[in-house]
Amino acid sequence: TEFTDVDLNELLRDTIALLDHQLKTAKIRVETNFDPQLPRIHGNRGKLQQVILNLMLNAKDAMLGTPNATLRIATFSGAGRVLVRIQDSGGGIEREHLHRIYDPFFTTKTKPQEGAHKGTGLGLAVSYGIMQEHAGKIHVESEVGIGTAFQLEFPTSGGRT
Ligand code: ADP
Ligand code: MG
Repeated sequence: TEFTDVDLNELLRDTIALLDHQLKTAKIRVETNFDPQLPRIHGNRGKLQQVILNLMLNAKDAMLGTPNATLRIATFSGAGRVLVRIQDSGGGIEREHLHRIYDPFFTTKTKPQEGAHKGTGLGLAVSYGIMQEHAGKIHVESEVGIGTAFQLEFPTSGGRT
C-alpha cells in the first residue's frame, strides 16, 4: 500500500463534495469546523477516503427521515495527534449493539428504508482494519435518540508511524 503525506482537511472537503447530492436529497445540513493548522498525516489517501465515506454514509443512513438532520465534521490537532470527528443527529446505537459494530457482517440494516443502502455490515470492520494500518484508532460515542460521533485518531507524520 502506498503511503504519502495526506491533508485530512482536504480529503474531508473532497469527500463531502462527493456526497453533496446525496446529502441534499436527504435534507442533511453539513457543518464543518476544520483546524487550519492541522498537520498532515502519513497514510493511504484512497483507504482513508473509504473510512470517511463509510462513516458519512452511516451517518446519513442514521438520519434519514429525521428532522433537522445535521452532519458535523471537525478536525483537531495537538500532542502529536490528529483527530477527525464525524457526528450525526441520528437515532444512535443501542447499548447492546455497541460492542458488535466492528464485527464483520454485523448490520441492523436488514429492511432498508428508501434511500438507504442495504447493509453488508462490512463498513466498520474494514474501517477498523484501515485505522490499524495507519497506527490509528477509531472510537465511538453514541446516545439513543440524540446521535452518534465517531472519532478517528492518527499520529502526525512527524511522529511514530
Ligand atoms: P452497514 O452500514 O452495512 O450496516 P457498518 O459496518 O457500516 O455496516 O455498520 C454496522 C452497524 O453499526 C450498522 O448497521 C448500524 O447498526 C450501526 N451504526 C454504524 N454507524 C452508525 C451511526 N452513525 N448511527 C447509528 N448506527 C450506526
Ligand atoms: Mg456502513
